Amino acid sequence: MNYAITEAQQALRQEMENALGASPAPGLSISSREKLLPSLKALAETSYAKTIVKEKYDRISVMLAQKSMAVKSPSLALGLMAGMTIPSRLLAAYASEELKKKYLSPLLEGCASAAVAVSEAGMNIENGSLTTSATVAGEDAWTLQGTKNYVWNAPLADFFLVAAETEQGPAWFLLERDTAGLEIGSADETLGFQGCAMGSLTINNCQVDNDLVIGPCSNRNSLTALRKWQNEALISIALGLIERCYITALSYAKQHKSGGRPIISYQEIGFKLAEIMTLDQTAQLLAMKASWAQETNSRDTDALLGCAKVFCCEAAEKTASECLQIMGGAGYVKDNLVAESFQDAKYLTIAGVSSEISRMMIADAVLEMY
Ligand SMILES: Cc1cc2nc3c(=O)[nH]c(=O)nc-3n(C[C@H](O)[C@H](O)[C@H](O)COP(=O)(O)OP(=O)(O)OC[C@H]3O[C@@H](n4cnc5c(N)ncnc54)[C@H](O)[C@@H]3O)c2cc1C
Repeated sequence: MNYAITEAQQALRQEMENALGASPAPGLSISSREKLLPSLKALAETSYAKTIVKEKYDRISVMLAQKSMAVKSPSLALGLMAGMTIPSRLLAAYASEELKKKYLSPLLEGCASAAVAVSEAGMNIENGSLTTSATVAGEDAWTLQGTKNYVWNAPLADFFLVAAETEQGPAWFLLERDTAGLEIGSADETLGFQGCAMGSLTINNCQVDNDLVIGPCSNRNSLTALRKWQNEALISIALGLIERCYITALSYAKQHKSGGRPIISYQEIGFKLAEIMTLDQTAQLLAMKASWAQETNSRDTDALLGCAKVFCCEAAEKTASECLQIMGGAGYVKDNLVAESFQDAKYLTIAGVSSEISRMMIADAVLEMY
């Protein structure tokens, strides 16, 4: 088997590193407009933006590009995923040409950012009903009502893609920031990803014109696609987080001395690094296999994506914890890259499709296959 990265895949990764920087940066924040916009602009100047909105794109290229953002900063990768990548993908796949022109183009040009809000009643396998609802208001408009507590990039977004339940099935509503009845509240502080902006939405009888609605649709495919895109991005962030922790802890273990010797010379530390390398290599291979299965429409695609989500995100959690242990007290202090990653990593197993639900979905897929 040939696991070599192609020239095209390497080229996109290089473009990303040139635009956004490659070295791990602690405490990087894009939680204000002044900080987010330059990153969006830099991203727009790479071919990443054009790649992610293609119907067929090289998944491994995108994964490596997103991973390189996360090596620099998981907050940077998550903030750009929430504010640009995911809303762009939704618009490219489901919106009319008019809506694409008005809302997708500014996203791809790095002039605007968005946020996506899906207010599901509870996490479940079938993409259950949404608590935000929409009813027809005359011939040309809808009335929207609901709340969503946690929304990445809400404090900065120029517009929102809100999923709501209608009598005909789910639909997406485009709400501009100044829509009457839309309240953007501050959210609770999060344990990790503190470089990203987060807020809540209260949607109080918002009137939305027909031409700002995508759907309604009798199936729930757009919600399934959204989960898949979120999972792909979270897997890439997990891989980047593993790499940034590993290189930091390895370098520390070589330099830091205890008892007159670099700590890497102690077998206990060497074994930890060996374990992390094993996790890192396995995570990368599984993520690549899941991407490759999607490219080739393999029948185990969904199960493999679930396996990769569970393994890579849990490996990130374990890696961050072990790297912090290697660094001892120096790893535990605030504003330290590994301590920051330790806090970020927990979110990865909760977000997108959680580890619990992913395992249930893998089990269902296994039952179907064998
Ligand atoms: C920081 C943050 C940012 C977010 N940003 C966004 C955003 O930008 N846009 C957006 O739409 N949403 C966002 N969300 C919301 C997120 O996508 C989910 O809607 C939300 O996390 C689900 O609620 P919950 O985590 O409280 O899970 P719950 O459904 O309450 O689950 C709690 C626990 O129970 C488990 N569980 C739940 N159901 C089952 C089951 N049937 N079987 C077994 N185990 C189960 C879960 O895996 C989890 O471990 C964000 C959430 C957070 C925390």
